[in-house]
Amino acid sequence: MRFLACSRFWPGKGPVLNGVRAGIGPGGRVESIEPCSGGLPGLLIPSFVDAHVHFSWKALELGSLDCSGVRCADAMLDAASRAPVPEDGLIRGFGFDESSWDDPALPTLERMDEVLGGRPAIFTRVCGHVALVDSALLALIPEGTPGVDRETGRLTEEASLGFNRMFPVPGAHLVRSMERLQEHAFSLGVTGIGSMEHLREARLIEEWAPRLRTALGVFSGDAEELERRGPGKKVRWIKAFADGTFGSWNAAVDGNYLDGSSCAPMADEGRLSELFAAASRCRVGLCVHAIGARALRAVADASRRAPSVRVRLEHAEEFMPAVDAGWHGNRHSFCMQPNFVRRWQMPGGMYESRLPHSRVRELNPFREVLSRGLRLGFGSDGMPFGPLKGLAGATDHPNPAQRLTVEQALRAYTLDAAGVCGFEDLAAPVAPGRPADLCLLSADPFSGAPWEEIGVKAVFLDGETVFGDPGILEEE
Ligand SMILES: [Zn+2]
Repeated sequence: MRFLACSRFWPGKGPVLNGVRAGIGPGGRVESIEPCSGGLPGLLIPSFVDAHVHFSWKALELGSLDCSGVRCADAMLDAASRAPVPEDGLIRGFGFDESSWDDPALPTLERMDEVLGGRPAIFTRVCGHVALVDSALLALIPEGTPGVDRETGRLTEEASLGFNRMFPVPGAHLVRSMERLQEHAFSLGVTGIGSMEHLREARLIEEWAPRLRTALGVFSGDAEELERRGPGKKVRWIKAFADGTFGSWNAAVDGNYLDGSSCAPMADEGRLSELFAAASRCRVGLCVHAIGARALRAVADASRRAPSVRVRLEHAEEFMPAVDAGWHGNRHSFCMQPNFVRRWQMPGGMYESRLPHSRVRELNPFREVLSRGLRLGFGSDGMPFGPLKGLAGATDHPNPAQRLTVEQALRAYTLDAAGVCGFEDLAAPVAPGRPADLCLLSADPFSGAPWEEIGVKAVFLDGETVFGDPGILEEE
């Protein structure tokens, strides 16, 4: 038996306990919880689960050009022209967000060609739904590929999201990158993920066998192949899109955007029914990206016709006008992103350029989802990765009516994030019998420590130290 003594402990439910000594058995499960005096400073909690990431994509980003900090188009192109050329000869830049640039104009195709001097390059927007490529790369993309604008070098939706299917990253390189990202995930307190992947990467992840607990969603474009080959060990969902994003003005919001435009859901009734049928045949659930209220209603309608398929709604930012669409706690769960609040919902944020103030306030209504008895799990969608970077968006939501308490917010990023990923053994509070997936925070948010000042001191997965000083566990 090994022991971990902490001065403060939150089991995942109820009040914070003072002075607890947890016994961890050889099987990696908690065997005992006893009061003690003293113990390590900080707060021991169940470890985090990030219910919505794109793990292979994020891993690739880690080894590629980081464009998240650039402030204008030329700075991005300049960085790319100086970047080392990777083994497959293709420069990949990730994470640009022109809404944060001093001048939000995207670079023209001519300008990209001029600065990059004929080296093939792609720049993927932070949302993943839009990318820019130069002429050298355009020449490599087959004629007739949907979502490719050859005049401007812009790739949208499938062309952008599916880029790595056209140009697969060498498998060994990807696995090395994923190993690095796994270590990074542990350092952020995360021991479980729900990851949305193409089938090739999903299979690669299954073969690699990560230490992270992993639930996979496979993009609907691969649904037929998934059905032919069987879902494998870790695939739990087909991932589909009912609409686009606020960033690209194609979230299917209620009524109009500020510029007078409107947008219908991307997937019509027939397409949604097909997706439900495919999920049912593959014996998996469905994860549906649905941001706008019209998209949410369309999913609720399709779900009514296929009640045996469990559906996870991704993002659900404009949930308020769709609260009465017919949600049921036993077959609908929600995966939402508190970091989106921090990033886009604060005064002057991107949402305000899309919708009037009164509608912006109502976005990301976390408390409403909970008050309807629906399961809410948090995920970062990698923007940025790291629960502690997002939680303030839940507890300091600009609309006080939608704020969560510290307990509700932590629960959504631990037990309930595990729940919406199907890790049922982690969806219960820490008690004897539960896997010892734990995280020691440097300070206690229940006592008012601000999220941005809280660090991760140690992380345990199945009772093994995966981050921090291994000597922290006392052997006995
Ligand atoms: Zn996503």
